[in-house]
Amino acid sequence: MVIACPCALGLATPTAVMVGTGVGASQGVLIKGGQALESAHKVNCVVFDKTGTLTIGKPVVVSTRLLKNLALRDFYELAAAAEVNSEHPLAKAIVEYAKKFREDEENPKWPEAQDFESITGHGVKAIVRNKEVIMGNKSLMLENNIPISIDAEEILAETEGMAQTGILVSIDREVTGVLAISDPLKPGAREVISILKSMKVKSIIVTGDNWGTANSIAREVGIETVIAEAKPVQKAEKVKELQAAGYTVAMVGDGINDSPALVAADVGMAIGAGTDIAIEAADIVLMKSNLEDVITAIDLSRKTFSRIRLNYIWALGYNLMGIPIAAGALFPGTGFRLPPWIAGAAMAASSVSVVVCSLLLKNYKRPKKLENLYIGGIRIE
Ligand code: ADP
Ligand code: MG
Repeated sequence: MVIACPCALGLATPTAVMVGTGVGASQGVLIKGGQALESAHKVNCVVFDKTGTLTIGKPVVVSTRLLKNLALRDFYELAAAAEVNSEHPLAKAIVEYAKKFREDEENPKWPEAQDFESITGHGVKAIVRNKEVIMGNKSLMLENNIPISIDAEEILAETEGMAQTGILVSIDREVTGVLAISDPLKPGAREVISILKSMKVKSIIVTGDNWGTANSIAREVGIETVIAEAKPVQKAEKVKELQAAGYTVAMVGDGINDSPALVAADVGMAIGAGTDIAIEAADIVLMKSNLEDVITAIDLSRKTFSRIRLNYIWALGYNLMGIPIAAGALFPGTGFRLPPWIAGAAMAASSVSVVVCSLLLKNYKRPKKLENLYIGGIRIE
């Protein structure tokens, strides 16, 4: 009775999960519960959002091409007044750039925008100074029946080829200008993708941005599978499709537009610098907004699970050996019976070994492969 006490079995999983989540937190990987930690060790496909996830997410306007006769200052005043209401990183870039054309640069007062509407994954709409401003990607223009001139098409293709995002700005139903916005890759993005490959984890980009830019970025980081121009629901659908194909999918994203996919994925990982909604929807939050923490999370989960397996060996080992002896298996031959005090000690020892084994997880170090992203413990930027 004493030796068969299954308390070590009961301790095997929760202790390891507790230590695992604690270690994760100290590494900047916030794991919201055991379920997330459990699913992460099976992940064999990671879906990355582009803007703010693979890229820094602090885009800057690098060029403006006006197609109509209009002062840059006036053009940017309308654009900024519309975008200042949006949370999107591209919107912030536009507002930041527009300040350069103002005398009150520090704290500009933009004209009021009426009927502001943010079309997630497409752009924004607003009425500014009695002019209808619609800005965003090509499909936003098409949906609003705004014709895109050949000139505008050419500028778009040019920006996309350089891995920049082209934003069309229409004023009173005419495409008036095209902004090129550049958002560089996060440092280490290439290495992270290649390390994932070496861990037999497939990487995919799913982005709301256009195909040209998405393909250019994919080429730069070394990802072969790209889905572009995906609306938020389509991101989630892609995740479900991959799951149906037998993959255990992790989704890594930062935006409101990634939230449905973060929920649909087996493990949703939000970038710490992302929007609150994404952080809320995710199972794991990468507090440092580093891409390599995707690898830390998967690796930590794998290590935790091998600990749990080891714990079961400890817990079952004592029982498997102890129970038959306690039942008198050795008595006929050797006359040995397990005295209750030894049974008690063994039972306690099995619990102690399980707890110690779990605690040893505290020595976790991030995978060696990631070390070349650091020099003397400091991240290379
Ligand atoms: P991602 O999936 O890469 O994070 P999003 O889905 O947020 O990108 O956006 C997709 C595209 O929609 C952008 O590349 C941009 O062309 C357009 N867009 C989205 N929000 C805005 C905005 N506030 N202003 C202008 N364009 C926008
Ligand atoms: Mg994003």
